[in-house]
Amino acid sequence: MSRPKPVVAIDGPAGAGKSTVAKGVARALGYTLVDTGSLYRAVALVARTRGVAFDDRGAVERAAHDAVNTGALRLGRAEHNTTRVLVDGEDPGDRIRTPDMAMGASAVSAYAGVRDALLDAQRAFGADGAVVLEGRDIGTVVFPDAEVKVFLTASDEVRARRRYEEFVAKGVAATYEATLDEVRQRDAQDASRAVAPLRMADDAVLVDSSALAPDAVIARIAALVKAREAATSPA
Ligand code: C5P
Repeated sequence: MSRPKPVVAIDGPAGAGKSTVAKGVARALGYTLVDTGSLYRAVALVARTRGVAFDDRGAVERAAHDAVNTGALRLGRAEHNTTRVLVDGEDPGDRIRTPDMAMGASAVSAYAGVRDALLDAQRAFGADGAVVLEGRDIGTVVFPDAEVKVFLTASDEVRARRRYEEFVAKGVAATYEATLDEVRQRDAQDASRAVAPLRMADDAVLVDSSALAPDAVIARIAALVKAREAATSPA
């Protein structure tokens, strides 16, 4: 099966800069951007607003399936080639960007039933290519046949520092130490889960962004995609 344009998978741990980089790559290429973490955060929000505890696996899985089947949780197209998760018809905005929702997303994303419920929505957006998906398992599970796979990482301290600065900029109460703990805890949780653990696909390109500016990372990935486009486009 060949797509007219590549699917670009950008995976990696929390705070590696995936969002900024994925956005920049999508913009540079005119590709659609899909932030798959927002779907897991939205499941955490759905659980919270429906009074379901994050550790009640059966109830969380049912809530996720119900929300997807009824359209209460869906991925919609948004301005400038981006996509937006919608919960009960609305963009939840920063309500899913709190430390609590990040930990909730990490907890609920370990449930196979939750991952399953979100798979079709992610694949639907990538089917025709010209899309950048950022997450944890895009290159391994969602699009194992993605034409370009990048595993973006950075040291724990650099990732916690970036995360902490984001919280401060948004006025979210946080300390650097607590953010570093949260980043490490989330990594451990994401990497050790039984289903779709965070790991680099065998055919992914490893990019360490610890000492690189976002623009340099974006340029590097955009070049990889362009090379791939050139190799597959008809002469
Ligand atoms: O990327 P972001 O920090 O928004 O992701 C929140 C959480 O959602 C992650 O810690 C991870 O547990 C989960 N996630 C996932 N698979 C993805 C994207 C996110 O399990 N593809």
